[in-house]
Amino acid sequence: MQFQNLSLNASILRAVAEEGYDNPTPIQEAAIPLALAGDDLLATAQTGTGKTAAFSLPILERLSAKPANRGRHIRALVLAPTRELAVQIEDSFRNYGRHLRVRTAVVLGGVSPDPQIKALRQGVDVVVATPGRLLDLYKQGHAKLDRVQVLVLDEGDRMLDMGFAPDVRRIVGTLPRDRQTMLFSATLSSDIVKLSADILRNPSSVAVTPAASVSTNIVQSVMFVEQANKRQLLREILRAEGTQRALVFTRTKHRANRVLRQLLSEGFAADAIHSNKSQNARQRALNAFHGGRIKVLVATDIAARGIDVDGISHVINYEMPDDPESYVHRIGRTARAGASGHAISFACEDHAFSLIDIESFIGHTLNKQEILPQDIASLKTSQQDRARKPQRKTESPSPSLTPDASARGSAQRRSANVVKTMESENSSVQEASPLAANESRTVAEAAPSTAPFALTRPSGKSPFPGRRSSEVPAVG
Ligand code: AMP
Repeated sequence: MQFQNLSLNASILRAVAEEGYDNPTPIQEAAIPLALAGDDLLATAQTGTGKTAAFSLPILERLSAKPANRGRHIRALVLAPTRELAVQIEDSFRNYGRHLRVRTAVVLGGVSPDPQIKALRQGVDVVVATPGRLLDLYKQGHAKLDRVQVLVLDEGDRMLDMGFAPDVRRIVGTLPRDRQTMLFSATLSSDIVKLSADILRNPSSVAVTPAASVSTNIVQSVMFVEQANKRQLLREILRAEGTQRALVFTRTKHRANRVLRQLLSEGFAADAIHSNKSQNARQRALNAFHGGRIKVLVATDIAARGIDVDGISHVINYEMPDDPESYVHRIGRTARAGASGHAISFACEDHAFSLIDIESFIGHTLNKQEILPQDIASLKTSQQDRARKPQRKTESPSPSLTPDASARGSAQRRSANVVKTMESENSSVQEASPLAANESRTVAEAAPSTAPFALTRPSGKSPFPGRRSSEVPAVG
């Protein structure tokens, strides 16, 4: 299907073409006709599927068909759980509506309300808001919600996780009953189903991807590493040739700050975002990451949901997330819009159970490697060798950093790329043999430039006793 078949006006089609979109994504193909028909919608889609355009294009179509708003009444309201996501959605409205006379504003906490109040006073058609600040401005009489024609709840599951249900219900209570409502959620929990029953009327359902689907363009791996060695391992991964832009996740703000300090002291261009940072500082960090002025962004889950930055080559879970859904959301920051990427998780024995949960959630086992200090040292040496030796041009870049199928295939063929790993059910597992280990060491030394993660360990005591080690090809 093409965008031309979607009954969108020429100005919108022009903006979409300028964005470089060739065809609608599956969620757009499914949701846009229903939304244009005025249906309420319950859509299961994660970020990265093109869901923002799936609701913003039909809203723009609807609003541009009627005369521009002269009063102060908001015509379309989008609620988002995080400030970053709200900013991003409003950006999308601006981009897709750049040839239309539709006015948009963002309403969010953490920054001065004055510019938001000014925008609302001047009159806007579309408001993208986080619930708390919108309620404040509504109570103060600045946000007129009684003529809202379309309501979108984006990332509904996240909204509920973050405790916004009461605020959302309060906001919905101020809106006209005769409206169109679209609820987008990555997962369909029972709470979401309940919320949808309360706020949607005869909704059409669209679910283009299973709730826990992960892009096949992401090469996922787990590295079992002791806490004390994480810092070094992170440094070497970030220094590796194929790491262009990396998002590093921690569980706590405190840890995010510590990792950031380490990275800065090691000379990386880096910043951090988490809920203790001011909104301006968070936006500055995101802009710098977006613009390529920093290579590494350290983030906690709360700040990171909805980050849409092109070209993130690596997502690194410095600490494993609390739940499988967060894992899926975190790693979805890479391999966006058809690109490819790597998701590397640092785990320790304590995480064995959360890994089982993650694997059952995503429906397959993860490739696991056990990393000892000497592995990191050999990685470092191979990086230094690479820096010293003139690079031989190869057709496929580093196998462990490129989730490209052909590169992966060649990685598997190359005997250098054997690593000591934890048992991985979905890999072809072979028992380790001294010969294989010796061979691998020799070849790895001979060709470090093509195998920065060819970690070899002829012998070594496992830091995680009780686990059977075996050798499988390295796939990063
Ligand atoms: P979203 O799921 O809305 O966060 O979108 C993820 C990314 O996909 C954004 O960077 C969009 O610009 C991009 N995108 C949205 N629709 C399309 C499309 N039809 N073709 C290519 N890229 C798209």
